[in-house]
Amino acid sequence: MNVYDGQRIAVMLEKHGLSQTENLEEADLIILNTCAVREKATNKVYSALGRIRRAKKTSALFGIVGCVARESGGDAFKRIPELNFVLGPQSYHKLPEIINNPDTKLLNIDLTGIEKFDELPQITKSPTLAYIPIQEGCNHCCTYCIVPYTRGREISRPFADVVKDTINAAKSGAIEICFLGQNVNGYKYTDENGKLYRLSDLIKEAAKLPEIQRIRFTSSYPTEMSDDLIEMFGTEPKLLPFLNMPIQSGSPRTLKRMNRPDDIEVYRNIVKKLKSVCPDIQISSDFIVGFPDESDEDFEETLNIAKEIKYINSYSFKYSPRPHTAAALMPNQISEQIKSVRLQRLDAQLNENQREFNMSCIGKEMVCLCEGDDKTKRHLVFRTPYMQQCIVEKPDGDIAPLQKIKITDANKASLRGEIIK
Ligand code: SF4
Repeated sequence: MNVYDGQRIAVMLEKHGLSQTENLEEADLIILNTCAVREKATNKVYSALGRIRRAKKTSALFGIVGCVARESGGDAFKRIPELNFVLGPQSYHKLPEIINNPDTKLLNIDLTGIEKFDELPQITKSPTLAYIPIQEGCNHCCTYCIVPYTRGREISRPFADVVKDTINAAKSGAIEICFLGQNVNGYKYTDENGKLYRLSDLIKEAAKLPEIQRIRFTSSYPTEMSDDLIEMFGTEPKLLPFLNMPIQSGSPRTLKRMNRPDDIEVYRNIVKKLKSVCPDIQISSDFIVGFPDESDEDFEETLNIAKEIKYINSYSFKYSPRPHTAAALMPNQISEQIKSVRLQRLDAQLNENQREFNMSCIGKEMVCLCEGDDKTKRHLVFRTPYMQQCIVEKPDGDIAPLQKIKITDANKASLRGEIIK
């Protein structure tokens, strides 16, 4: 979501005569697009702001947008008095106001709507992978999560608007689209005639566009995986056989206290249905270790589910207490030391899953999307349908961004391959 927001901010500011620079010292406007999901990320924002304050030109305007802006509100100006703007995730379209009035302080952390989508200029040149937000906010209220506070209650964008953005992305260069939302598979929009649209309708619509060859979506809530959506993995070849469906913990006791779906059998059944319509599908998850009162037995259940489902491309974190969340106030917080040991053990399992899956790809042929040069400029980096990185010798001349590649080698981190001519 932040990558998408960053792209839209860049396009919007280009319309106001600004261009991007990698050089902090020469920038006239410096924006930190921030994430508040973990405490460490929030701390990093404030130490970065301190560095920027010292390094920037005196005349340069600087500020924060996104979830830390929403979380900090006006307090951010108290911590860093030189800040010029603090704009929450639904208000960054107001950035031009600070360019027009550089002597004011701009604060807007409103969450009442998603009119930013109407006010932002359309992208005229799309990356080959285009992110398309379809909903914002979340109603699930997991007890550890700050998102319902920073991004607000769930709002699905009008179906016609999302289709328009998808067509626009396709016409301006996108080959792959990724529908985005905090609770993406909870997308529901009823139009003025009472017709209900769901994520599966958006996928069908996108798949009709000849330019769009690959479709994916993130991030999914397990119990919102409706049958119509599961069916799509069997019937729509453009939908990639890879799904991020976070379980967070393998322990029903912990899941209950996280306010997450706590019936592991229901989760297993969803995976079973997905595998029955699409045998090649791979699942990824996010995990939290060291949630308040997590016992050794609870943690073992997390390890077991990671092994059983064979998750790939997963994210694992130590529980981090966040303001405005119920879990931050729960008793029996787990020590950092125990969290670190558990994280190491879980990571070892997830790395083993990844290594095993990557090795199983050797000899296979996959259609992959080119992301550009690697650091040496001698290789191209491709993304497989399963989001693995695949490194390929750079051929002479230009090539199309989608290529059929034979996987020749693999390790835990990436694949190597050859373009099939
Ligand atoms: S479903 Fe995801 S975004 Fe929503 S509250 Fe839970 S963790 Fe946060």
